[in-house]
Amino acid sequence: MKVPLLDVNAQNLPIEEELSEAWQRVLQSGRFILGPEVDAFEEECARLVGSAHAVAVSSGTDALLAALMARGIGPGDEVLVPTFSFFATGGSVWRTGATPVFVDVCPVCFNIDPDKAAAKVTGRTRAIIPVHLFGQAADMDKVMGLALEHDLMVIEDAAQSFGARHRACPCGSIGDVGCFSFFPSKNLGGFGDGGLITTSDDELADRLRQLRNHGMNPKYYHPMVGGNFRMDALQCALLRVKLRHYPEYGAGRRRNANYYTDRMSQIPGVVVADPKHCKCPAAQQEAITAADAGIILPVAYPHNEHIWNQYTLRVLGEGRRDALRKHLTEAGVGCDIYYPVTMDRQECFAATPEASRSDCEVAHRLAGEVLSIPVYPELSDQQKDEVISAIAGFLG
Ligand SMILES: *Cc1c(COP(=O)(O)O)cnc(C)c1O
Repeated sequence: MKVPLLDVNAQNLPIEEELSEAWQRVLQSGRFILGPEVDAFEEECARLVGSAHAVAVSSGTDALLAALMARGIGPGDEVLVPTFSFFATGGSVWRTGATPVFVDVCPVCFNIDPDKAAAKVTGRTRAIIPVHLFGQAADMDKVMGLALEHDLMVIEDAAQSFGARHRACPCGSIGDVGCFSFFPSKNLGGFGDGGLITTSDDELADRLRQLRNHGMNPKYYHPMVGGNFRMDALQCALLRVKLRHYPEYGAGRRRNANYYTDRMSQIPGVVVADPKHCKCPAAQQEAITAADAGIILPVAYPHNEHIWNQYTLRVLGEGRRDALRKHLTEAGVGCDIYYPVTMDRQECFAATPEASRSDCEVAHRLAGEVLSIPVYPELSDQQKDEVISAIAGFLG
């Protein structure tokens, strides 16, 4: 039996009728740009995230870009970003003319290490972009403390964490803004590109609405330069359908993650990451060596509600990750590497100052060890067992 890394049809085809209804509604309305579907989607998202405003935009990348533009971040400014993330987190900073300053991450949750971020603050630092990677919140207590101390804008990159929580707070409601993506592989997977910005700052929300429409207000008058960052009415109508089913999707991912962890942690050579080692790579290395571990399973911190966009293993030992990847592929199990190259090592960022590229050894190690396996909500137990036995076979 083949187990794909992601099967969007397994989620979308069972609700085909509802989706067709939404398409018919938009078709009949004749309104394809902004309008009532977009307004309604924004209201529903704002409620879910617990922020006063939500602004639907063209992608998660444009959400980040617009958020930076809204505070006038640009040439001469520095923005702290985790070096272990999808490219857009750093790319959007670069596009404003500001300098992305790359920060190392925690070896347990893969998220930005706030202490290492603090060490990279200079007089030019204007913002920090904590990424809630793979569906688990970054250490927002420390990030918010750092931001308060240095007057930094906090842009939560919650592209992979729609519906996740940090303590009781939904991701995207903690910083100045939250940025989301509805790319088909994200937790709320759309039918093309789409994104969202959440904020409880009225003035910022106004600016974001204006920026997504060429900075225009009133019509054909442009007090500022924006872009075309609008999301289609059709995309919003379709996503509203999936939003109604969203609690089931989150529950499915959590069920799958727990299933994997319960069973795989029984396999000799497999250990679960220990929250005690959060931001303590040295202690973690010691424990790994003592346990003679070959694979580390991901863990959700007790204070976080993880939404499991990815279930990401660390495969230890020279060449072992690539060997497991080959083994799983041959067994018909989909898997992929998020992410093989950290941002500080991307060719396009070679011109960033050295300080911003140093001190990222945890992330460099992770880039050589991580492997994500299927965790999408519709996986059957039989499929999960297939994945587990393929992994057990590799170790045994
Ligand atoms: C997907 C993603 C983005 C970009 O979202 P798009 O909608 O693809 O532009 C940004 N940051 C992270 C962490 C992502 O996973």
